[in-house]
Amino acid sequence: MRIAFDNSYARLPDRFYARLAPEPVERPGLVKLNASLALELGLDLEALRSPAGVAVLAGNQVPEGADPLAMAYAGHQFGSFVPQLGDGRAILLGEILDPAGERFDIQLKGSGRTPFSRMGDGRAWLGPVLREYILSEAMHALGIPTTRALAVVTTGELVLREEALPGAVLTRVSRSHVRIGTFEYFAARRDLDALRRLADYVIARHYPEAKEAERPYGALLDAVVARQAALVAKWLCVGFIHGVMNTDNMSIAGETIDYGPCAFMDAYDPGRVFSSIDRTGRYAFGNQPRVAQWNLARLAQSLLPLVHEDQEKAVAEAQAVIDTFAGRFERAYLAGLRGKLGLLEVHDGDAELAHAFLQLMAEVGADFTNSFRALCERGEGADERIWVRLGGEGAFDAWMARWRARLAREAARPDAQVAEMRRSNPAVIPRNHRVESALEAAVGGDLAPFEELTRVLAEPWAERSGSALFRAPPEPHEVVQQTFCGT
Ligand code: AMP
Ligand code: MG
Repeated sequence: MRIAFDNSYARLPDRFYARLAPEPVERPGLVKLNASLALELGLDLEALRSPAGVAVLAGNQVPEGADPLAMAYAGHQFGSFVPQLGDGRAILLGEILDPAGERFDIQLKGSGRTPFSRMGDGRAWLGPVLREYILSEAMHALGIPTTRALAVVTTGELVLREEALPGAVLTRVSRSHVRIGTFEYFAARRDLDALRRLADYVIARHYPEAKEAERPYGALLDAVVARQAALVAKWLCVGFIHGVMNTDNMSIAGETIDYGPCAFMDAYDPGRVFSSIDRTGRYAFGNQPRVAQWNLARLAQSLLPLVHEDQEKAVAEAQAVIDTFAGRFERAYLAGLRGKLGLLEVHDGDAELAHAFLQLMAEVGADFTNSFRALCERGEGADERIWVRLGGEGAFDAWMARWRARLAREAARPDAQVAEMRRSNPAVIPRNHRVESALEAAVGGDLAPFEELTRVLAEPWAERSGSALFRAPPEPHEVVQQTFCGT
């Protein structure tokens, strides 16, 4: 198994990680290989499928050129600082360059104990591993920056949770696994040298333009804020709830990372929470922008010693950057909502029009995805069909008249407006009840529903006749109320 690694993180000082190999497993079994991702990355598909490849994906064989390590990081979990977390059940094998020269981490998750495991067993089980596969690949297909899933293997071992469950390892691919919590780790130790090296590393890898700025570390913060604002706006536009936005789960590269108890909403409700451990609703759907800003303030705090040698000036500069979050988020979110309503021009009152629609959806408990998708109907009798798809709710009458009038004020042709709506409003999202039933079947040995679901989710904008089952909201008895971290 030959992979052309180039491991920049492993060249950082020793205190950034613990070097160790993944723990071998009893009986590796390939469950899923993401062929299109493997090809995008320029990896050898046949080699990955071979017993030698599967041994690598299981952690039984460390490929030549890998520099396996567990990354150190800290983090604020539900608002409380934990000075040491780190990869407790993941090993970064190394980094590769894709054919376009883009750098990606190849990480095994569920690969055994590390010095950061604390009380954990370092393992993962098949349900949450397949869940991450489904959800992260669905996010990618929706055009949302995210870590990706390259492969799933079973270990032939049981993992003890409340019951004994089949163990599995996920191969995760990301632009990097550096988190806000990585900065917090060194800041809390007052290790200024490491902090600077980490910041320089992140600038070189993700934000090279910041290097040219007059004040590179302020520019780094600014660039991270911009990416996070854009990311959370995208989440809100598809009804995604991350569920555990701790600072150790916020990627410095602005990707969605750590698919634990995340979920897509069915009925629109800004207060919606799925995670069983989020008892206060800290990470509720509509709180996500505020939480992202709070997390970025933790990054800003960590960077203060680098931003300016005069601490007062550093605080003022960092605060000014953090204060830009709300405006950046609002602009990105409104741009997304405009697309969802087919509005190609910017007019006064657009935000109000969009929020009125959301408000109505909340009042009647309308399905988020299908309500927006309904607006794509066009031609003779379109309004009647939209109205029916909105559940025949009288509440929408006046709003639809306003929306039609607003559409008519544009120079653009209706086709262009509808085309914009069709690429802004997915027909298919990973609905919780479909995800759960696919996982249940897969854990029971039947992978067909998982395969079908991932196939449909790979083309979320298409309204194929075969995908009707995946577009339907849950029947009352199918509603999934809670999701779990799965650790
Ligand atoms: P998470 O909630 O998945 O973001 O994980 C928070 C922390 O707990 C990270 O440091 C993980 O590496 C660690 N962790 C989660 N599950 C396990 C496990 N089964 N064994 C060891 N460490 C774990
Ligand atoms: Mg995590």
